[in-house]
Amino acid sequence: MISKNVRVRFAPSPTGFLHIGGLRTSLYNYLFARHHGGTFVLRIEDTDQSRYVEGAEADIIRSLEWCGMTVDEGPGAHAEKPGAHHDGPGAHHDGPGAHHDGPFGPYRQSERKAIYAEYTQKLIDNGSAYYAFDTADEVEEMRERLIKSGNPSPKYDYITRQSMKNSLTLPEDEVKRRLEAGDPYVIRLNVPRNKTVKFEDEIRGVVSFETKGLDDQVLIKSDGMPTYHLANVVDDHLMQISHVIRGEEWLSSTPKHILLYEAFGWEPPVMAHLPLIMSPSGGKLSKRKAESEGIPVNTKDYISGHYEPEALVNFLAYLGWSPGDDSEIHSLEELCELFTLDRVSKGGAVFNHKKLLWYNEQYLRQQSDETIAARLRAMDGDLVDAMPKQNLVTAVGLLKERVSKIDELLEMGRFFFEDPQEVDPAAMKKWKEDSAELVGEYRKRVDAMPSSAFDATSLKSTLEEIVNERGIGFGKLMMPLRIAVTGQGFGPDLFESMALIGREAVLRRLASAVERLG
Ligand code: GLU
Repeated sequence: MISKNVRVRFAPSPTGFLHIGGLRTSLYNYLFARHHGGTFVLRIEDTDQSRYVEGAEADIIRSLEWCGMTVDEGPGAHAEKPGAHHDGPGAHHDGPGAHHDGPFGPYRQSERKAIYAEYTQKLIDNGSAYYAFDTADEVEEMRERLIKSGNPSPKYDYITRQSMKNSLTLPEDEVKRRLEAGDPYVIRLNVPRNKTVKFEDEIRGVVSFETKGLDDQVLIKSDGMPTYHLANVVDDHLMQISHVIRGEEWLSSTPKHILLYEAFGWEPPVMAHLPLIMSPSGGKLSKRKAESEGIPVNTKDYISGHYEPEALVNFLAYLGWSPGDDSEIHSLEELCELFTLDRVSKGGAVFNHKKLLWYNEQYLRQQSDETIAARLRAMDGDLVDAMPKQNLVTAVGLLKERVSKIDELLEMGRFFFEDPQEVDPAAMKKWKEDSAELVGEYRKRVDAMPSSAFDATSLKSTLEEIVNERGIGFGKLMMPLRIAVTGQGFGPDLFESMALIGREAVLRRLASAVERLG
């Protein structure tokens, strides 16, 4: 039973194109928000300027839109929800124009620097954080020294901080002097020694960590920018996030976040860490692995690859979750109804590309031939325009069941629009010595046929006539005929296809094949 007002966020870092794992995280957040009548926030975590990629934010927004996920607050939010006002907590911090994305803006962390400074000060004041003046070299020296003395993973922690230059070890007046002189510093979290941090994850159950293994996490870097940990916690609190739903790779950061919530005296949101997405060959589906297995990694590749967005959404929803029955096809709306966190699996979810293509087929076939024809026209006007509208619709009907994606219709159905330029080499193997003669005979009979009789039925009976007269198998003529007309060894019903291509073009193609292929 979820009693809180549900507010969730998708919080990507704009460090590149939105990858498929990120898209699944956003989808689960979206489904959860809609299921509970809550709010879906988009927050751009762009504090790491060195990894910022121009255009990444636009790519994220476009990807969510393409999938049909509407953002309620944040960059790209379309409309304000009824009853949303411009005066939420944190509003007094905002710069001019920052409000239009929602009541808790700005939603880009780079625009919230003043907020992080204010909240870090609270931690300094209550002793939960401290200034550290050590240079990067000094920290490095400390680590090397400890490695040499047998500590394999030295940290800046409760023990080692004692010999470093920070506001816990330096006299108060020196700290003051350094700050006033503008000496560079970072601000670190004062991680308590030997404490067990426990929290209940909605998916993984009780998780506990020992602080012994934790660094005194840097909260504010020397350039004044917050680290992910600080900004994430401050924003989740100020934006009144009720549930943090994110990838398993963030699980190990959560104890630091819990310590931060404790340091601020805030109640942490409910945590839910989603299972990893695995490669079919085992292990985490990394970019490199995906590429080597022919799996597109970025959402934009699915857009440009002509996948159906509904198929990708349906597939991703099932990548780590299932409704608990054997149903498979669900629209985004139905998924919103069905989605609950207790049905998210703990174990890794294998990315099965074939299954995605299966989903794609289902969603493509659901569309009327007219709709698909209109889409094809938009995709490749020049090619498709050569064909009368009704013929195109009929051609779609002939091809639709044979492809997984709409672009394959153009490939497979190219022969409907233009004479085949060459024959597929695999098909060519089926062009035999007697093929030219048989095709020539067929052509002669079709040529003699009155135009009004040129239809699928008589085209088929003409073929039957010849094979019966000669006492040969159907395929003996059928295959070379298909090769001559389409350039391929397989495809939709050949007689229907020829009827659609038209008498003149069929006669021309048959003559040309006899001549070219001999
Ligand atoms: N900015 C982090 C990311 O890129 C967000 C992780 C989280 O949701 O807390 O995924």
